Amino acid sequence: MKKIIALLLVAVLAVALVSCGGENADVVTMGTNAAFEPFEFIEGDEIVGIDAEIGATIAEKLGKDLKINDMEFESLLGALKTDKVDFVAAGMTANDERRKEVDFSDTYYTATQGIIVAEDSDIKGIDDILDKRVGAITGYTGEVICTETYKIKDMLTFKRGVDAVMELKNGKLDAVVIDLQPAKMFVDKNEGLKVIEDPSFEAEEYAIAIKKGNTELLEKVNEVIAELKETGKLDEIINKYQNK
Ligand code: GLN
Repeated sequence: MKKIIALLLVAVLAVALVSCGGENADVVTMGTNAAFEPFEFIEGDEIVGIDAEIGATIAEKLGKDLKINDMEFESLLGALKTDKVDFVAAGMTANDERRKEVDFSDTYYTATQGIIVAEDSDIKGIDDILDKRVGAITGYTGEVICTETYKIKDMLTFKRGVDAVMELKNGKLDAVVIDLQPAKMFVDKNEGLKVIEDPSFEAEEYAIAIKKGNTELLEKVNEVIAELKETGKLDEIINKYQNK
């Protein structure tokens, strides 16, 4: 009897190992923070958006299924380093600070920051909020620009854009600084707000982050981005979500 149970256990383990290995071989994992419409957001029980579509195209190129791992923005680069995810597509700005930790693909979107304020506010640009109470999202470039470039002292940081926008609506903040496209989405979805575009904010380039040294994947991702650009598919994807 004992022998039979032992044999059965071995059989079960063998099957488990084989199916587990098989799954890993056929799946590529994308890390993101799905609170950043139009790039990644939750619709029903699915993560959709511009980055999700780019991720799906990368998976297709690799002949694998795509698994999307939704996590805090701040955890994304760590997850890449510890192989919890294979690539990060999260509206992430490729900058020198992050290049110390990861490699970036060619860029696929040029962004800038936006300022969300109450509809009746006189704020016209970044210079008008230097002494105001400003909300930003922890670890986003918007936070870094406010604190390091513009030395804004009265900053409140939040885990998600939506939390900062709620505080702004409740009158607890004078402004929220976040990437322009998500800023526009928040304003569309919430009454009584407007977006200020300030040309003094620098352009930011979004790119896919990949573990340092994984040149094989980096090259594939760059091929996908080049193809998406050449075929006009990238513009199609962007328009589909941006002008929704
Ligand atoms: N582009 C910003 C950054 O890289 C915000 C990205 C995001 O929220 N997903 O920090």
